[in-house]
Amino acid sequence: MNILITGASRGIGAAAYASLKKHGHNVVGHSTKGSDALIAGELTDPRAPRDIWDTAVDELGGEIDVLVNNAGIYEAVSDNAPDEEWHAAWARTMTINLQASADLSRLAVSHILDRGGGGRIVNIASRAAYRGDSPAHWHYAASKAGMVAMTKSIARGYAAEGILAFAVCPGFTMTGMAEDYLASRGGDKLLADIPLGRVAMPEEIAETARFLALDAPPSMTGAVIDVNGASYVR
Ligand code: NAP
Repeated sequence: MNILITGASRGIGAAAYASLKKHGHNVVGHSTKGSDALIAGELTDPRAPRDIWDTAVDELGGEIDVLVNNAGIYEAVSDNAPDEEWHAAWARTMTINLQASADLSRLAVSHILDRGGGGRIVNIASRAAYRGDSPAHWHYAASKAGMVAMTKSIARGYAAEGILAFAVCPGFTMTGMAEDYLASRGGDKLLADIPLGRVAMPEEIAETARFLALDAPPSMTGAVIDVNGASYVR
């Protein structure tokens, strides 16, 4: 399979990139600045998704079968921040987490339809989509809920053409993102809220994404998979 995954430089994306490669697939990864192995693309730039997509198509010999939208940010903004700061924080989070994923998904749908159908989109959302998040993260939760709604729309809209869409909702996962949050909000209290007794490892989210990208039966399309140690069951 030919696969594009965003945010592959670290955390969940790096684990998914490594796992997909290990399974013998042709994987193109992306990060903000890129590297010898990864395509560069700053997702606050509205032209970046198309540039990333076009470069990935070239690198993969003209065909992409699977898109994994993983890149994302988890940045705080106080609920009593000045209007300008509040708006800037919302715009930045929605652009990176939701708009860029939508842009890439649209390019993937169009590419797959042009090729006659058959492909998958996996969106890395968050437990916050269902449970909400802290008072400093309304925008993060809203961006991830938007991702889930978008995933379901794609699943329903293009199943007949063989385009399958899935979302993963990780709870706390041991990456840079979770480490900062655990440190800032009292790690022990948070762990007490996770019946499994620990945060998830990036490899666990990566394995879920790999399954959805490659093996999940087509009738699962539209599914949202929780990976959160039973910290939020629904
Ligand atoms: P991470 O370790 O912070 O890595 C984020 C990735 O996204 C990096 O590859 C980063 O690239 C890329 N990225 C960030 N801002 C970008 C931008 N402006 N333009 C382009 N790329 C950008 O994150 P993670 O914890 O693995 O999270 C991955 C995904 O899982 C995110 O969508 C996150 O919301 C979701 N998630 C995480 C957790 C958690 O607890 N960790 C929980 C639920 C959901 P650079 O290295 O170039 O900056």
